[in-house]
Amino acid sequence: MAGGAGFIGSHLCDFLLKKGWRVICVDNLITGRKENIAHLINHPRFKFMQKDIVCPFRVSGHIDVIFNLASPASPRDYFAYPLETMAAGAYGTHNLLEIARKKGTIFIHASTSEVYGDPEEHPQSESYQGNVNPIGPRAVYDESKRYAEALIMTYHRIFHLPVRIARIFNTYGPRMKLNDGRVVPNLIYQALNGQPLTIYGTGKQTRSFCYVSDLIAGLYKMIYCPIAEPVNLGNPQEFTIIKFAQLVKKLTGSKSPLVFMPIPPDDPKRRCPDITRAKRLLKWEPKVNLTKGLTMTIKWFKDQMLI
Ligand code: NAD
Ligand code: UDP
Repeated sequence: MAGGAGFIGSHLCDFLLKKGWRVICVDNLITGRKENIAHLINHPRFKFMQKDIVCPFRVSGHIDVIFNLASPASPRDYFAYPLETMAAGAYGTHNLLEIARKKGTIFIHASTSEVYGDPEEHPQSESYQGNVNPIGPRAVYDESKRYAEALIMTYHRIFHLPVRIARIFNTYGPRMKLNDGRVVPNLIYQALNGQPLTIYGTGKQTRSFCYVSDLIAGLYKMIYCPIAEPVNLGNPQEFTIIKFAQLVKKLTGSKSPLVFMPIPPDDPKRRCPDITRAKRLLKWEPKVNLTKGLTMTIKWFKDQMLI
């Protein structure tokens, strides 16, 4: 698994090990953390390789599945590492596809709802081709993910490589970095510390938040579903950012005020997945609602702040 020391990747490592798989976790730790996998280091079926997927590398032996989650994912991270983000999506994905091609491995890619850009179709289904600004600051992420999808489909067409593309919508949960900059950790951290909750723009923009265990269940099911076309994975319950902030305040018991700040360029105004395809093909849909997922996440953040 590439990107296995990150937020989602580390949960996927846990899940695969519980299911009895052997896991090789490849990560250069650019945005991930060794703490996320510290509890696995001595596991007999787990191996960590600190490597940058942008540089070609070898892995010995047979591999059944490659999960590619290696990419900065938070806007703050990909604004801080624009070239590294583009290289991971382009050269990194290419290097992993080459390993998959040589070994005849199933290739599962973590793509993103950002391929839809600032969508003009709502909710977004997989047939929607997106509205991405190719020269804006977000393009380092959006366009490298779009390039990766094109490359993966080309490997599928030319080499008949068994590939899967998961278009992941906003996912949250324990192990997100406190300073990762995304709305979930930002607002929880601010609420727990009595700081004002930062709302970018009017707060009327929407997102749909998927709890990490639901996402992992969907990613795992993709191993067994031989469909190359992308599949949206996300929670279709849509919230404005203001509503989300109010829920965070309620669940933390915070009295913090909301402060309004400038909105980052090209910030999507509405985002909500159409998960019809995932329901039909994977027999998957999220089970954890936002109140329950946030309660578990807030507890984890509180524990982190005590350490
Ligand atoms: P994350 O930053 O916590 O994890 C990404 C991991 O990839 C990190 O451990 C990082 O060190 C590693 N990485 C980055 N570039 C690398 C490289 N060149 N070589 C090796 N390792 C590298 O982010 P996350 O939220 O866990 O996201 C994981 C994947 O899921 C990403 O590909 C992201 O684009 C995708 N995704 C996430 C979300 C979400 O809401 N969390 C939404 C859509 C897509
Ligand atoms: N956002 C916000 N306050 C914050 C962080 C983010 O209002 O402190 C907004 C951001 O502008 C976006 C939404 O929350 O409209 C989700 O942002 P995030 O960075 O979590 O992910 P995105 O969906 O933009 O990739």
